Amino acid sequence: LRRITLARRPSGDPVPEDFALETGDLPNPGAGEVLVAVEHFSLDPYMRGRMDDARSYADPVPIGGTMTAQGVGRVVASNADGLSEGDRVTGMTGWASHAVLKASEARRIDDGVPPTSVLGVLGMPGFTGWYGLNDLGRPKAGETLVVAAATGPVGSMVGQLAKAAGLRTVAIAGGADKCALARDAFGFDAAIDHRAHDDARSLRAAIAEAAPDGVDIYFENVGGKVLEAVVPLMNTFGRIPVCGMVAWYGGVEESEDRLPMLWRSVLVKRMSVSGFIIADHWDRFDAFLSDVAPRVAKGEIDWREDVAEGLDHAPETFIRMLKGGNTGKQIMKI
Ligand code: NDP
Repeated sequence: LRRITLARRPSGDPVPEDFALETGDLPNPGAGEVLVAVEHFSLDPYMRGRMDDARSYADPVPIGGTMTAQGVGRVVASNADGLSEGDRVTGMTGWASHAVLKASEARRIDDGVPPTSVLGVLGMPGFTGWYGLNDLGRPKAGETLVVAAATGPVGSMVGQLAKAAGLRTVAIAGGADKCALARDAFGFDAAIDHRAHDDARSLRAAIAEAAPDGVDIYFENVGGKVLEAVVPLMNTFGRIPVCGMVAWYGGVEESEDRLPMLWRSVLVKRMSVSGFIIADHWDRFDAFLSDVAPRVAKGEIDWREDVAEGLDHAPETFIRMLKGGNTGKQIMKI
């Protein structure tokens, strides 16, 4: 067994020393459990939150505990009815070569489904984009949507669903290559490189040009400079599904208080600002799959993965992803 554990709690942005690689004997599955040899696992921004012990919607990873992750792998020993050796399953394996899963918490992946797609486009991140856009964004044809981290698994789902629903879609992404990907693969009407703008004012001017009728839905993935740029461009009765704020996961440096500007905008524009945690909405997952899986199979919804190899490279890959070093869904291959 090889696993990556949390060696200490990070202060600010995580560094490699916050993690440790540990080895040990393979665990034995108990009654109703299976042992899985992990092939791939997902690296997601939420894992940064699990490294802190601040009160949150989920318990932190304990010091010395295996870092949390959803993984995909083959059953190599089964003590459970319904799952046999050789079955491919997904479940919360952690950053590890092997994991014992309860059969009730392992979902079988049918042959024919690309295994890693259950970590991205057809898994938690794709579902997050679908739920947040449809249920909280309430898109209407003719409106304008802005989303950042636009080539990631959440943002690319949001952009493609919104485009198909008849909205004008504006991507915010890091760098010229990701902007080209946003336009060419994910169909965004415009793409803006946030790294090419030093401050919110300059970014705001670029977004205003790309969104001449204002912004009806700002799907919030990043916070920071992008949020500050977009808020004044929001239309009356605009919607902001608050999904994430990855720009601030390592801490906040700004000193000027912009809360009054934000709150006044929410009031005078009668905006709906709705925070959500996708784990509260698993009851909608089947509805998501019935809608999106056929569209993915037909090629109407495109997706990208960034697969890094080697369990020991997971910490540096995670650190890089939080800063935009990934292009598409970040996955580790064991
Ligand atoms: P991504 O794969 O898109 O990775 C994060 C991306 O954020 C980076 O690639 C980078 O893209 C962008 N980014 C990082 N720092 C900044 C910054 N300072 N300014 C602007 N952009 C930045 O991630 P996901 O698609 O998996 O997740 C997107 C968001 O959704 C995250 O905030 C995540 O926490 C959130 N989330 C929330 C869930 C919920 O239940 N509420 C569930 C799942 C995800 P680029 O290089 O293009 O800037």
